[in-house]
Amino acid sequence: MEKILISSCFLGNKVRYDGGDNLLINTTLKRWQQAQRLVVICPELAGGLSVPRAPAEIKIIDEKIIVSTNVGEDITDAFERGAKQALVLCHEHNIHYALLKESSPSCGSSTIYNGEFKQVKISGQGVTTALLRAHGIKVFSEQNLMALISELS
Ligand code: SF4
Repeated sequence: MEKILISSCFLGNKVRYDGGDNLLINTTLKRWQQAQRLVVICPELAGGLSVPRAPAEIKIIDEKIIVSTNVGEDITDAFERGAKQALVLCHEHNIHYALLKESSPSCGSSTIYNGEFKQVKISGQGVTTALLRAHGIKVFSEQNLMALISELS
């Protein structure tokens, strides 16, 4: 059965930068979890960051993607490491689908914050999503979960 990569925070794990989660309650998701079809990752923890951690946003500088904290620390390397870990998991489990948290600088798939820490969203994708998509993995979010469910049923 097809496995699905999933953001750890959707399963209630307290891995967000602020120590919280993004618990996503859905009966199909629960069934997939019970059938051990979910492969779980928090790319930011996988990249070496901890909980809690400073909030981070993406900026494009000289056509390069830079991830920095709200105090200006460049943590792009950690985000790239986490993205690679996610890709390794996809390859290990032959995964073609991911369900990742919208608007996160790692996991966002349609929107991200604009890099100014003013709670302003723009079109864009997170570092992990970009890497997975570049390798042909389809990335969904909580906002189009039903589309993922219908693709897999
Ligand atoms: S990096 Fe992804 S999995 Fe980790 S807390 Fe942020 S949105 Fe959730």
